[in-house]
This record gives sequence, structure tokens and C-alpha cells, in this order.
Amino acid sequence: MRKIPSVDRVLADERLKPLVETYPHERLVKLIRRHLERERTAITAGKKASSPSAVAEAVYNQVKAMEVPSLRPVINASGVILHTNLGRAPLSQEATEAMDVVATGYSNLEFNLESGVRGSRQVHVESLLCELTEAEAALAVNNNASAVLLGLTALAKRKEVIVSRGQAVEIGGGFRIPDVMRQSGAKLVEVGTTNCTYISDYEQAIGPRTAALMRVHSSNFQVVGFTSEVQLEDLMALAERHCTPVLDDLGSGCFLDTNAFGLAPEPMVQQSVALGAGLVFFSGDKLVGGPQAGIIVGQKQFMDKLRRHPLARAVRIDKIRLAGLAATLLHYLKGEATNRIPVWRMIAAQVKDIEERAGTWNRALGGMARVIDGETMVGGGSLPGGTLPTKLVAIGGGRDRNLSQRAARKLRAQETPVVGRIANDILLLDPRSVLPEEDKIVVKALRDLAPGLH
Ligand SMILES: *Cc1c(COP(=O)(O)O)cnc(C)c1O
Repeated sequence: MRKIPSVDRVLADERLKPLVETYPHERLVKLIRRHLERERTAITAGKKASSPSAVAEAVYNQVKAMEVPSLRPVINASGVILHTNLGRAPLSQEATEAMDVVATGYSNLEFNLESGVRGSRQVHVESLLCELTEAEAALAVNNNASAVLLGLTALAKRKEVIVSRGQAVEIGGGFRIPDVMRQSGAKLVEVGTTNCTYISDYEQAIGPRTAALMRVHSSNFQVVGFTSEVQLEDLMALAERHCTPVLDDLGSGCFLDTNAFGLAPEPMVQQSVALGAGLVFFSGDKLVGGPQAGIIVGQKQFMDKLRRHPLARAVRIDKIRLAGLAATLLHYLKGEATNRIPVWRMIAAQVKDIEERAGTWNRALGGMARVIDGETMVGGGSLPGGTLPTKLVAIGGGRDRNLSQRAARKLRAQETPVVGRIANDILLLDPRSVLPEEDKIVVKALRDLAPGLH
């Protein structure tokens, strides 16, 4: 035990010099004490004492590991454009600049510059959202899950909300419509069956306690075969006859016509508004292509109830994302979404351009891979059956069954990790979900990959 170095001796070690200059003395002393404590336990267990420099080295390594940010950029070559685990939508340059400006200084977040009195943070996006969707009112909150929770709580607590059984779904990450409904205090009235729901099912369920009819976009699955779903038009007409609103959870929330990109039609926010939805809910960071947010558009009479509800404060959006959202919405109003918003740039990318980039990636691998036809998924709770044609760089699939796993691990270990997907023992890298500006990083990673993989 006497061989255990003193705190001062460890602290004086050459190795810790750079840390002594940057970290507070007490912080380093605390870390060293913890290491020496472990040393004591180890010696009690029969181990030999470490030298002061060995302890200093361990402390140094711990501090250096702590300094590496846990959350860091990766390249999404997975072929899923809106990948929730990889942070969903990357932002446009204009959006990130707008966020940077607001983050680094004060702003007129809730301050009316004309009158000099308190204002609402919602003014910074409401008129843009109303212009874009032709809705009477708009509200931005923390995310779409909280938007739906706020809407149901403010409008339907202790009342009934009618939902098709085929739409009482789980979106993923534990977001289940029946659970959200329970949390809001609204009573879920499920109608129809898993595969078939008719307008008469809704009609029979409407009663004096009905607060709303709800539609949930089946954003991550498809029911095929013998199915029947009520069209939004018909649901709206029924709701209007009974003077009850339709709440429309669109999930992704699309402003552009996906048909124009060879994709299956994704319900558009403007259509729901035009048909007369009471409230429409969608995410800011799915097909909108902005920062995380929950966006609600619809009729003022309902929105006012949401604004006044105490939960609105609990789920409010922060200033930084508000700035990013406004900049993203402006891209749509200027008609430049497919040139500026990364998600739409990826969707709109031409296969011939992707093929050329795949060729460059493939050459960086020096003959160990090949370019094949493939499909990109949009993902993020949109277009469950729709994919885009693409060209993939394929690694593995030969006799060496582990090649794809080894290559994937090596690419994840890069300074900027490159994430692909593995199917049938083949590692697939999709240039469509990578912005051309990032190709340099990918090519460097692929050059480093080839040697030493066998
Ligand atoms: C994604 C999704 C949500 C949740 O949205 P978040 O922004 O992730 O909170 C809710 N409803 C539907 C239909 C969705 O697809």
C-alpha cells in the first residue's frame, strides 16, 4: 500500500502537464483520487502497485476519451433517407445559418420590435405555414408526438375520439396511438376491422360524447389484399354533418407531390387543409426536411384551445429550431425545395448521377466491390411501399461470408463513420442518401478500407 503514489506525484507527472494547464485543479485531483482508490482495491486483491506515470497515463486517457463528443456526424449510406436512428433530416445551409445566428445571440423570440412589448414565438413560423398550406392557423411544438398529445388533450379529454381499427397503430419507438390517446384522457373508440373500415362504421359510433374523428396515416406499413379504407373526403363530409372536427395525423407531412418523383402518392398537408380538416399534425424533420418539430395547422377555433392549454408550454419549441424551421419553410415558398432541402435533393437526384458517384466510390475500393441496381427507401414514417431506383456499391457476397461484416465494422470505425446496410451477407452503400458534398469523406474511407481487409 505504501507503494501507492500520492496525488501530488501523479499530478506532477509530465503526461498530465497539458491537462493541468486546461482543467481546474480540483477536477484533476478528483479523477486521480478515484484512480488511486481503484489502485488500492487492486492491491488488496493481490495485484502489484502501478507507477505514478502509469496512473497519470490512465487519468490522461480517461480525460481524452471524455473530450471526444459522444454525438458526432456520420455518413448515411444506408439507403434510408429519413433514418430516425441517424438523426432524420439533414438541414439546408440556410436553415443551419439561421439557427447559428439565433443560437449565438439574443433574439426577438417573444418580443414585438414594433410595440416593444411581449410577443409570441409562434409569429416566426405561423404566417409562413399558413401561406404554404392555406390554413387559418398554425402552431409549432417540440415534435409530432407532442403535437398529437396536445391536440387530443386540449380537444378530447374525457370525451371520445373515433379511430379506424386499422389506424390504431404503433409508429415506432413506442409511439402507439391507443397509448397516446389514454395519456391525453380521451377515450379511443375503435371502429371497423384491421383490414376493412367503412364510413358506416364511423357513423354508427358517433354520439353525444364524440369530440373528433381521427385519421392516422399508416406511415410505416401497408395492408395488402382485401382492404377498405374510408377516403378523407368522405370522413370530412360525415364529420361536417355531425359538427365534429377531423384530426389528421399525417406523420411525415409532405408539401410536394411525390408522384412527380416516381413515388407513390403521399398525402399532402395542403390537401387535408383544403378538405377542411380541423387540425393536421406532422413532423418538422421527416419529409418537411427541417429540424425536429411538431407542426399543427388547421382551424383557428381549435388551435386557440391548444394554444391556451397548459400542455402547450410543456411541449413548446425552442428558438433554435424555430429559426431552422422558418428557413426551411421559406425554401418551399420560394419554389427551391428540391435544390436546397437535402431530403428533397436526395429524392430528386437522377439515377445517372448516382451511378457516376457509385462508380467513383467503387474505384476507390480498387476492384473489391461492384456496382449493382438497388432501391432507396424514403423512410421516416412516409411512403411505406415506395422506393426510388438507385445504384449501390456492393461489398462481399462471395465465399468469405464475413467480409461484409468486417467491412461494415471498419467503415463505422472511421473518423467520420460511414454507415451502410447489410443484406444477404453483402454490404450495400447507397450514394442517394449521401449528399455529393460528402463524397470526399466516403472516398477517403473506402480507400482506407481496401488494404488489410482480407
Ligand atoms: C413519426 C410519426 C409520429 C411521431 O412524430 P415525431 O415527430 O417523431 O414525434 C406520429 N404520428 C405518425 C403517423 C408518424 O408517422
